[in-house]
Amino acid sequence: MASSLNEDLVRSIVQDVLANLNNGSAPAPSCGCAHKKAAAGNLGVFEDASSAAAAAREAFTELRKKGMAGRRVVVDIVKRLCTAKQQEWGELEFAETKIGRLEHKIAKLQGIAGLPGVEWLQPYGMSGDHGITMEEFTPFGVVGAITPVTHSIPTVACNIINIVAAGNTAVFNAHPGGAKCAVEAVKAFNTEIEKELGIPNIVTIIREPTIESFNELTSSPDVSLLVITGGPGVVKAAMASGKRAICAGPGNPPVVVDESARLDKAARDIIFGASFDNNLLCIGEKQIFVLDKVYDSFLNEFRRAGALQVNDQQLAAITAEAFDTKAGAGGCSHPVLNRDLVGAGAERLGSIAGLQVPTGTELLFAETDVDHLFVQEEQMMSLVPIVRVRDIEEGVRLAKETEHGYKHSSMIHTLNVEHMTLMAQALDSTLFVKNGSCLAGLGSGGEGYASFSIATTTGEGITTPMTFTRKRRCVMVDNLNQF
Ligand code: NAD
Repeated sequence: MASSLNEDLVRSIVQDVLANLNNGSAPAPSCGCAHKKAAAGNLGVFEDASSAAAAAREAFTELRKKGMAGRRVVVDIVKRLCTAKQQEWGELEFAETKIGRLEHKIAKLQGIAGLPGVEWLQPYGMSGDHGITMEEFTPFGVVGAITPVTHSIPTVACNIINIVAAGNTAVFNAHPGGAKCAVEAVKAFNTEIEKELGIPNIVTIIREPTIESFNELTSSPDVSLLVITGGPGVVKAAMASGKRAICAGPGNPPVVVDESARLDKAARDIIFGASFDNNLLCIGEKQIFVLDKVYDSFLNEFRRAGALQVNDQQLAAITAEAFDTKAGAGGCSHPVLNRDLVGAGAERLGSIAGLQVPTGTELLFAETDVDHLFVQEEQMMSLVPIVRVRDIEEGVRLAKETEHGYKHSSMIHTLNVEHMTLMAQALDSTLFVKNGSCLAGLGSGGEGYASFSIATTTGEGITTPMTFTRKRRCVMVDNLNQF
């Protein structure tokens, strides 16, 4: 009796698989979950997360039929549109988010064309007496992506390239403060993708993202993997969802400047990195530790390179506005950043302290001790604190403490290799730049490629198409062996 039941079961599974093979579609999900039937969207824009995920799931089945060539079409479209619309989309994002600097919103979109694509997926082959084995990189299915307000369209674009190059489709829950421009970009991508590939909804997005849509997305049976780009709250929420999450979390990148550094170049590099988009970059220099021996000379170079110093009184006025220090502010046990000042420029910060900042000033700085809020918190605005340290040991120790174990990014300016090694080992950060601005870590002024999702918390590093793949071994025993 038991054996006949098993035979029936095996027969029915074989029939299902054959039926699916015949009509070319992916096998029905075997998890027993109720996968939702896709509803019609408007160029990838959906009102709810379940419909967006279901549509992306159907698109995944269609995308598979187009092979590598289909993925390449999508990657090329995203790169092409980001280049063609850099001005228009930069302005759109700037107008909606009202943070950072327009020219840098445009520069970020310009950089999308240089991202890795399908060519990044290189299978690994083994051949021997027992045949041939390939290890290949295969997609997960639908990837749910959460994006930050600091780089809305760039993160959407960059995630699409990595996710689709790996063969997946994507559904986005953007930050509410940058959702409108993200929706416009998704519509433009889908218009071209549908025209060239004939597949709707390879990229979908929730029109009005909320915490509820986040929860719906992270619990959707149609979503196989998450990629989270944001601060500590969303990383925690995603990791608690039970789904595998690639987490590009927060940072507080320190810089150390020692006595061997080229101080003029260090000053210029730090100003470039910290003032880029008014310090919205998660990799941006947030606090600087300078060795006593060169402290005064470095400050002179910093001024010469264009940074403007604020005094203690002015710093106090800006700090009072930038942080809510009341115990339990916003339900937190630590001071809460005033979101209104995130991405604020030097002139705006100066005006809080009654300071006339000359137009074109890139960055403010202040001399502080290590306990200052601007050192301890990820402030994301155009003011960096500078702390005097006795020696390299103290500089590295304080850099490590103020990075808070995020293992995100750090920088050192030194010609002493032992100091580089000391800091590398102590901080163990995902991105470690020697003698360059933080942007050199993303291929701008340094070697390498970029991504707007640097998976620090979960350790995948600067995300590429490989990040969004499963590894599969494909073995052919004995046959095809030509020895
Ligand atoms: P944020 O954490 O406020 O928002 C990020 C995303 O998470 C948004 O889509 C937001 O709507 C959502 N979100 C926030 N809290 C949530 C919660 N509790 N539940 C569900 N969803 C939630 O961050 P932001 O201000 O948009 O971006 C800045 C932060 O992101 C900084 O901490 C920065 O370091 C980090 N960041 C990291 C990277 C990286 O690659 N590691 C890149 C960019 C930004």
